[in-house]
Amino acid sequence: MGERIELVKRAFAGEAVERIPVMAHNFLMAVREAGFTQKQFRESPDVMVKAMTEATMKYDLDCVLLDVDTALLASACGADVMYPDDLAAVAKGTQPVPLEELPDKVKDVDLLASPRVRHYLEAAERLVQWGNENDRFIRINADQGAFSLACILTGMDEFMMDLLDEDYEDDINRLLDATYSVALKMHELCFATGAHMTSYGNSSEGCSVISPACFRQFAKERETRLAADLKARGIPYLCHICGDVNPILPDLVETGCPAFELDWKTDANRVFEVAHGKFTLSGNVDPALFVTGTPDEVYAAARKVCDIFRGKGGLVLCSGCALGPQTKSENLEAFVRAARD
Ligand SMILES: [Zn+2]
Repeated sequence: MGERIELVKRAFAGEAVERIPVMAHNFLMAVREAGFTQKQFRESPDVMVKAMTEATMKYDLDCVLLDVDTALLASACGADVMYPDDLAAVAKGTQPVPLEELPDKVKDVDLLASPRVRHYLEAAERLVQWGNENDRFIRINADQGAFSLACILTGMDEFMMDLLDEDYEDDINRLLDATYSVALKMHELCFATGAHMTSYGNSSEGCSVISPACFRQFAKERETRLAADLKARGIPYLCHICGDVNPILPDLVETGCPAFELDWKTDANRVFEVAHGKFTLSGNVDPALFVTGTPDEVYAAARKVCDIFRGKGGLVLCSGCALGPQTKSENLEAFVRAARD
């Protein structure tokens, strides 16, 4: 196995590696720089592979993160999704199926019946082959976790209101169990491509969206269950949560998830204090800085995170969330340099 792949594997296992690996959540930027539209990207495995491999080589990244939008599983589950020409696909805010009917509709969905999922897995398989030939660690995003998928399928506003209403508690739990099985199936499919790691977003279970109490009531047990289920299947993975998770960091440790990708609103020093030796951090530089900042500012922000973990392990340097399409290339270059100097 190649040196870089080995390095990233060891970093995700929490080892104090000789240099901090760098990953970028960069599909929006990669597609623009490769001269494609988001529509071309999401509809063609060829374009997915070309855009992601070109960006990986251009910026000398250690990892490839394949990610296409936040509506891949939702579309396979029958959600209303918008497909703009040059923006990532996104589920509509209002969805057609009422909460009480969703669990039965969703739980046995055949993901391979979705052309979008099939294209995605084909691209993943080819990226894995490329990664093994070019010594790059391949992370295939399995789209959304149980909580975020339930949120998208119900419609964001509707779901947030239902969470607060005791009358809906059973329906929500039935839906979360259904979306859990869909998400688990997607991890299995992604890992079967030969990927070194899978990941998923449960962006809406962070404290910028729901309260810590709500996280503990509806989300934490399923994160814990997923950690056990994926461990039993031998699937390395990480969980991405947007925004601020400072108040639930000890809960995240308790889930047993081996790695979290956290946004800049979460304090990396506190992650180190609470989670070092327990989970690996992927993050957590502000993606907006890559668009609005200077290379010096991005470099300084990345160094700040690296300096907390350097020599001690527990970090893969990444942006805290998806980099915008207008990310400046000199800023991504400065980011990579910060991990290597
Ligand atoms: Zn995010």
